Amino acid sequence: MTAPRPTIGLANAVRSGGRSALEVVEEHLAAIEAGDGAIHAFNLVTADLARHQAGAVDRMVADGEDPGPLAGVPVALKDNLCTRGVPTTCSSRILAGWKPPYDATVVERLRAAGAVVVGKTNMDEFAMGSSTETSATGPTRNPHDTTRVPGGSSGGSAAAVAAGFVPLALGSDTGGSIRQPAALCGVVGLKPTYGTVSRYGLVAFASSLDQIGPFAATVADAALLFDVIGGHDPADSTSLNRPTPRVVSVLDDGVAGITVGVLTEFLDGAAPDVAARVHQAAEALAAAGARVEEVSVPEVTLGLSAYYLIAPGEASSNLARYDGVRYGLRVDSEDTATMNTATRSSGFGAEVKRRIMLGTYVLSAGYMDAYYNQALKVRTRIIEGFATAYRRYDVLLGPTTPTTAFPLGEKTADPLQMYLSDVCTIPTNLAGHPAISVPFGTGYDGLPVGVQLLGPALSEGTVMKVAAVVEAAAPTIGVPVLSGEARS
Ligand code: GLN
Repeated sequence: MTAPRPTIGLANAVRSGGRSALEVVEEHLAAIEAGDGAIHAFNLVTADLARHQAGAVDRMVADGEDPGPLAGVPVALKDNLCTRGVPTTCSSRILAGWKPPYDATVVERLRAAGAVVVGKTNMDEFAMGSSTETSATGPTRNPHDTTRVPGGSSGGSAAAVAAGFVPLALGSDTGGSIRQPAALCGVVGLKPTYGTVSRYGLVAFASSLDQIGPFAATVADAALLFDVIGGHDPADSTSLNRPTPRVVSVLDDGVAGITVGVLTEFLDGAAPDVAARVHQAAEALAAAGARVEEVSVPEVTLGLSAYYLIAPGEASSNLARYDGVRYGLRVDSEDTATMNTATRSSGFGAEVKRRIMLGTYVLSAGYMDAYYNQALKVRTRIIEGFATAYRRYDVLLGPTTPTTAFPLGEKTADPLQMYLSDVCTIPTNLAGHPAISVPFGTGYDGLPVGVQLLGPALSEGTVMKVAAVVEAAAPTIGVPVLSGEARS
């Protein structure tokens, strides 16, 4: 069995001269033009730059050179990835008008592999959120049902792939922001091991948790993109200086002899239709030769509360740099301190302000031991809980999200309800481990369900070959409403 590899087919057609990169990019730009009015996946479409890059790819092919494994493949970038001379807003007013003077390492690697960047995607402001509704540019809608959220914070990237606007996109995952929107939009999303993908040029939210990763329609395409963007980068001091797993080559290895633990705690909180899909995926793995058992890792239930001390703590420090002097927005005032306050007051949205205040509080003298330092101890317990499980199991299986996509507006008034949609994804970030969300049929409402596979550090190869088996057994989801329209 070979996993479907649409991107590899597209890139090979461009590489061999069978299709022109320019023609491929025009097709995708037309789909965006026709369909994105209803979705708002993009903050910015860089059509001219994309045509320019595609032209360069075509010239290389004409000259007998190989543009690389992503030759002519259109890619969308979450709007927190720095692009030289191209606005990078984090969907925040405070970065309005800012154009980074450099490209993120992942952007350089994409170009070196022949990919064509078509634009910057919408996100929750500074990646804080689970629905893309905290964006200053307005929400993104789920291509499967435009009354529902696409998830977040990388909702624009997930929706862009789901709607057929691009075959590949990049997002960032601090507490679930790749996997959760991937699940809700019915696409594949991988959060790699911390340190395997350079964070150089990723606008920082919570630096000990942030990680860049791929969105794709298939596991094989996500693997291809991971192989392109991964690997050591001296420009990121947290980049691992050791070989990054190469995943494309192991995807067809199957699951014979693999042990899978189905995570009780994640199932407990899941809606019945989502839990049923996880059980069905577990049965498929058993039928394919894996040993499957239920396992309890009680520490994961502590993840959410630890995360909402650690992530805001780091964010309050990272976001101190938006002072009206160095980036984007400045609200002029009589003196510098007043200008700082006026800029931050009007530049940041409510959720970002909530995190900054929470983070400042938990790091303040007198409270740091009770909150932040306590959360770090809990983080260690979570790491130990996973370590115990991984002595017995190669991978863990659970839902990615407790429910399918919820209606726009349903959780915006209640931050805790919003935070709870990441209850199954956050523990992985605290541990620094890899995890992937794979589409697996639909819920009672006909909307996509994602199942999640988790593994220990640097186990991307194992996680993704198991994911390929899950994918092959997955019930189909159906074509998103808008991609059907956009293509016809
Ligand atoms: N939804 C979580 C939060 O709001 C995770 C966000 C993310 O992974 N960037 O913090």
